[in-house]
Amino acid sequence: MKEERGEQPWLTCRSLPPGALERIADTVADRCRVPWFAGAVKINVSLVPPMVLLPVFLHIAALHFLLGLVVLTSLPAVVLWYYYLTHRRKERTLFFLSLGLFSLGYMYYVFLQEVVPRGHVGYSQVVLLTCGLILMLVALSRAKKDPGYLPISTSVDKPSQQAFPSKSVRGSSNGLHGAAAGGHSVNGETKGYSRVLAEEREGVKMDWCVKCQLVRPARAGHCRLCGRCVRRLDHHCVWINSCVGEQNHQAFILALFFFMLTSLYGIMLTLDTICRGRTPFTALFYCPGAYSDYSSALSFTCVWYCAIVTAGMGYILLIQLLNISYNVTEREARLALRDNAGRRLLGGLVIDTGQYNRGFLCNWGHFLSLGSPPQQRSAEDIV
Ligand SMILES: [Zn+2]
Ligand SMILES: [Zn+2]
Repeated sequence: MKEERGEQPWLTCRSLPPGALERIADTVADRCRVPWFAGAVKINVSLVPPMVLLPVFLHIAALHFLLGLVVLTSLPAVVLWYYYLTHRRKERTLFFLSLGLFSLGYMYYVFLQEVVPRGHVGYSQVVLLTCGLILMLVALSRAKKDPGYLPISTSVDKPSQQAFPSKSVRGSSNGLHGAAAGGHSVNGETKGYSRVLAEEREGVKMDWCVKCQLVRPARAGHCRLCGRCVRRLDHHCVWINSCVGEQNHQAFILALFFFMLTSLYGIMLTLDTICRGRTPFTALFYCPGAYSDYSSALSFTCVWYCAIVTAGMGYILLIQLLNISYNVTEREARLALRDNAGRRLLGGLVIDTGQYNRGFLCNWGHFLSLGSPPQQRSAEDIV
């Protein structure tokens, strides 16, 4: 008992007990209420930091080159730290989506306010950039729709997938509860939540989800952040605050693609205005007049902010395109890595499980047919 009493986190140099930071954040969230006609309204604190802090930090960064360096290197670090914090909590958050959308809006505002008035950007170029932004937002809103959730039901007498668990399947699943208790989580999914039952009926491999109480089709997975099983689950994306699955994977790729195009075009136009006569790549690293006036400095800071975000998104898009080319989902790659089952290709950028890989063209054909009704799709899922 003595040892137990001695274990005070503030006396011993141990880390805070798990959940302490979360409790503080929850308390802050609880206190943040604004008076409204129908009583106090609790506001989502995760929405406040982007709206207040982003413009403030970008303005500070524009004051001096060194301040810019400090702010622009610490911003991604803070965002990554918050990402791991929310990922550990296994909770959905609007922070990343609001940060993304607000960043987009603010960058566009700075472009219109600081870059366009200088007269080097043509009317058609502004229209083109605006179109790119709109297309990206349309794709994003489609990506926010149902990723292909499997219906939650505890009843056995449901058609399709729900009808599948027979008594024998249910019986075998009960034996898995013990294993599930000890399982530790792997990126949003818990080991032991389900086991492939190796049920080969009608040639379809199915597995059982203890949480949703259903047998899910091949390639489906349970997302602990959404608390649902998703058809052909790729991953849970914090930036759209939703899963990426069978129904929204195409829209997700399209949104990433339009974001890349629009962002690169905006960076090019801005650098062309601030650093006349230099190529965009040279201007990004060597732009002597960038800090001569505050307007240029702010534009240059925003260019660098965009460049960092675009590099990150470009990496995600690259991995996604490689995964599609090999017909592997993020989830399958992660599980294959865990079980030492996959083949690392291109220096570990892609994990080929070999399970669904039918060659480059077939894999892309399969991806492009993802949204269509199941009967029209090829027998790719059925292995
Ligand atoms: Zn599930
Ligand atoms: Zn999810």
